[in-house]
Amino acid sequence: MLETRPTPLLSIVAPCHNEAAVLPGFHRRATEAARAAVGDAYELILVDDGSRDATWQVIATLAAADPRVTGVRLARNHGHQLALTAGLTLCRGGRVLIIDADLQDPPELLGPMMARMDDGVDVVFGQRRSRAGETAFKRGTAHLFYRLLRRLVDVDIPADAGDFRLISRRALDVLNAMPEQFRFIRGMVAWIGLRQEPIAYDRAPRAAGDSSYPPWKMLRFALDAVTGFSIVPLRLAAALGVLLAAGSVLLLAYTIGSWATGRVVSGWTSMTTIMLVIGSAQLLVLGVFGEYLGRLYLEAKRRPLFVIDRVIGGPDNPLGAHA
Ligand code: UDP
Ligand code: MG
Repeated sequence: MLETRPTPLLSIVAPCHNEAAVLPGFHRRATEAARAAVGDAYELILVDDGSRDATWQVIATLAAADPRVTGVRLARNHGHQLALTAGLTLCRGGRVLIIDADLQDPPELLGPMMARMDDGVDVVFGQRRSRAGETAFKRGTAHLFYRLLRRLVDVDIPADAGDFRLISRRALDVLNAMPEQFRFIRGMVAWIGLRQEPIAYDRAPRAAGDSSYPPWKMLRFALDAVTGFSIVPLRLAAALGVLLAAGSVLLLAYTIGSWATGRVVSGWTSMTTIMLVIGSAQLLVLGVFGEYLGRLYLEAKRRPLFVIDRVIGGPDNPLGAHA
């Protein structure tokens, strides 16, 4: 179909997983912020990431009433980063705001972000000054994670920044050209370079609903970040091997010495200890290898990053024709 609508100045992309309760409120606040920034020249892309609640019905209702809303339903739950990727691939705006649908990121920050971009910044990312309504566990692990990551990785990934950010079209085109399955989008954006600047904000508690990031998903996300941006764990595995080899040389000298001087070694405790240490070190190293190998295997398939079930509203919406 021939594209008749002018390219919007701004796209707002929000991944939604079981967000039925917050979406109407999110739509209202995001719309107000967008109108204040660019008038009518924006689109709001809501990606339903295989929700089990009424999220899709709510998106459909919003899209029917508001021609600027595009609803995208993925074929199943693909996870936050791939749902976001789907939205970023489909959006057409000259600038793109990535934002969570749960109102933890204030849409009102759009105005100041746009102003910074007017000054020639390519990526304006929200940096969390505080995180209200999140457990001490989440705050603590996030704090540690970002600092550990910065030590492991060559790319300058900013601490305490999520995906909440405004990105220029040229930076987004680079991001969209990156083919990897295991996506740690905040890191991939940092990798691009160009001018990137933080803007501080206070992270609000969720407006409603529950977090879709239980601890095991956070751990997987952290692993994706580390393995996606660093081979330091492989180097550490090699270093562990060198360390154990050096230790075994000393132990060998001792053993041969004992044998030469005829001293009988009683043996069981030391044997067991050595076997356990070496055995577990081998398993650890194999585990690290396996983590990289598995990712290599899954990347090698080059499957599409997401599958779209339906798109409603937007350019195809009969109500939504601007031209
Ligand atoms: N999300 C998603 N797919 C998922 C998990 C989360 O699209 O599998 C969305 C979710 O709807 C929200 C954003 O990603 O807009 C952040 O998720 P959430 O608020 O659950 O994480 P938290 O803020 O607790 O880290
Ligand atoms: Mg959240």
